[in-house]
Amino acid sequence: MSIADNLNQIKSTLPAHVTLVAVSKTKPVADLMEAYNAGQRIFGENKIQEMVDKHEQMPKDINWHMIGHVQRNKVKYMAPFVSLIHGVDNYKLLQEINKQAAKHDRVINCLLQLKIAEEDSKFGMSEADAKAILTSEAFSELKNIQVVGVMGMATFTDDEDQIQKEFTRLKSIFDTLKSIDTPNFTPKTISMGMSGDYQLAIDCGSTMIRVGSSIFGARNYSN
Ligand SMILES: *Cc1c(COP(=O)(O)O)cnc(C)c1O
Repeated sequence: MSIADNLNQIKSTLPAHVTLVAVSKTKPVADLMEAYNAGQRIFGENKIQEMVDKHEQMPKDINWHMIGHVQRNKVKYMAPFVSLIHGVDNYKLLQEINKQAAKHDRVINCLLQLKIAEEDSKFGMSEADAKAILTSEAFSELKNIQVVGVMGMATFTDDEDQIQKEFTRLKSIFDTLKSIDTPNFTPKTISMGMSGDYQLAIDCGSTMIRVGSSIFGARNYSN
């Protein structure tokens, strides 16, 4: 199956309210162009430099999503063009994104990354952290960021019950946060689900899935 075939196959199964992010990290521009020519316009990368390089080489109607852990000192490189930052897990990072967005006269959309997995290896804030940020006056003054939802990653496991529990937890945190009324919080997106678990994620309320290997094939980190 080609990249275009994979993409079309996945898209044909998705409900209309679910957005597909094609996760293209480590893949060459030629592979991304194959997806682009099949109609894909949203790409997800997890390294800022790699995303900047691909952005420079590719058509400008692409929406670039940063799905990886973000280092504060690198926000400036993506601030001119990034369309959604999924992995925001602390207030200082929001402040920096706000500052860099202001320099370009932009409002940058962000998702708060919640820690839903039992594994310690996963980044993310607690529900209490997210509430504290969204209800703070300092947050409401960040005019150049818009928090549009939440993101989470389930534990890396074959145990479907556990994954389902973690996805359901993220959906329920989203539903709780939704009632917070502050101008730069417009909750609509729940980013959860990857190649191995996106169907389950959709059943649990996901509105945005991040799919890499099912579109582009397995990644090879050694080259
Ligand atoms: C790599 C990655 C994905 C995609 O993983 P696949 O299993 O290849 O679909 C999704 N989300 C994040 C945060 C990732 O780093």
